[in-house]
Parts: sequence; structure tokens; C-alpha cells
Amino acid sequence: MKHNIYFADLSPFRPLFASGLPVLCYHKVGRKPAGAKLRGIYVSAGLFSRQMSQLRAEGYRSVSADRLTMNKAPAREVLLTFDDGSLSVLRNAMEPMAAAGFRGINYLVSGLLGGVNEWDTVHGEVPDRLMDEAQVREWMSAGHEIGAHTKTHPKLSRIPPAHAREEISGSKKSLEDRFGVPIRHFCYPYGDYSPQVRDMVEEAGFETAVTVDPGVWRGDTDRFLVPRISARAHSLNFRNVFKRLLGRPLVDASPLLG
Ligand SMILES: [Zn+2]
Repeated sequence: MKHNIYFADLSPFRPLFASGLPVLCYHKVGRKPAGAKLRGIYVSAGLFSRQMSQLRAEGYRSVSADRLTMNKAPAREVLLTFDDGSLSVLRNAMEPMAAAGFRGINYLVSGLLGGVNEWDTVHGEVPDRLMDEAQVREWMSAGHEIGAHTKTHPKLSRIPPAHAREEISGSKKSLEDRFGVPIRHFCYPYGDYSPQVRDMVEEAGFETAVTVDPGVWRGDTDRFLVPRISARAHSLNFRNVFKRLLGRPLVDASPLLG
């Protein structure tokens, strides 16, 4: 069973972050709308701001996803990643990031630009507006990056291989055609992959791919299976998870374990 760890406050994460490059995973930044079922993917604007200023105060600087193609993880660097291209990120995350001098990458669902999170609304989730083309350009002109997150957000290991291949390479081509930049970085929807899917991503010409497997990136990590740490307001099971990731108990998590 995979354990998740959620980044709320920096203090319990110091030892883990010092052991590699932390790749933080965000989805939506802002107030959770009434009726939202997937509570865990909202980080409030206030919490997001606090996380950015905390990282900055501790001397962190943000890096491009290109850092994952190098074989060394320098200290005090962080990679800020956003999944799905939610408009809430453009509205609420850009300012705190700019204030901290940080940049990030947003992994876009190429077939749903300007639409909503259809992959969730079919299961009754409330709609969340996704950035349209002009808004993606606004994101990019502020110095941020974009990556691909398939065309329609399927579970890639559960669909026929030819279909999965098209979701992967089609999203790359479509974003490159629209925005005129090379799309080198990929994100697995739902963090779902198989060895075959991982190889398809590499064969499609991507250079890196991020998962939601917990951990930090180290120089010897497979760059098509990059672990991430999800940001979330609640922090659960710190002690066990950190013990497993670091191979030793984490003493200073106790104040948060409440
Ligand atoms: Zn997603």
C-alpha cells in the first residue's frame, strides 16, 4: 500500500526536503466551492501564500522541471507543480509566487482548455474552470512553464495501449502546436501508470514525468517516475511515512500529530 504525505507546514519536512529535490503537487488554489467532494485537492490561497513565504524565508528557490533531467539535486531548491490547468491557480497562486520570486509548471489537459474538469464532473464533482488559451499564455508570460497531462485525463493503465499512446503523444503535439514551445514534461492523470505506460511517455519524446508516489527526487530517481509531495491542509500519519521514507523516525513532527 502506498502512503501519502501531505505538505502543510515546512517544519516536519525539513529532513526529507534536505535529502533531495522536493517536487510539490498542487491542483486548485482557493476556496473549496460548496458541494465539492474532492476536498483534498484544494489548498486555500492563505495556506498557499504561507507555504511560499515559508519556503522563501528558508532560502529555497524554485527550479524548472528541466532540473529533473540533471543527475544531481542541489540543496534548497523546490519544484512547484500544478495539475490540470485550473483557472484558480492563475487567479490565486501567481501573486504569492511572484512575491516569493518562484515559478512553476502547470500540466494541462490539452483537450479541455477553457472547459471544466469533465473527468470529475462525470462522477458528480462540481465543475472547476480550466485555463483557456489566452490564460495559459498569461501564465507563460509570467515566466511559468507548461507540461502535458494527456488530452482527456484517463487512467492510462486501464485503457487500450493504442488509446493511451494517443492520449500521451496527442497532448504533446496539441500543446506544442498551440503554444509554440517544446512540451518536454508529462504528468500521469491520477498518478496512474504501469511499466508500459511509463515507456510510452519516454517513447513519445517527453524528458520527464511526475507521479504522486510520495518522496523527493534524487539524482538516481527514474525521471519518468518522479515522486511528489502533495500539498494539503491536513497532515496525517507523518511519523510512519517519514520513518519509511527516511529510514528513521522523525522527531520534530510531533507538534503536528496532535
Ligand atoms: Zn489531473
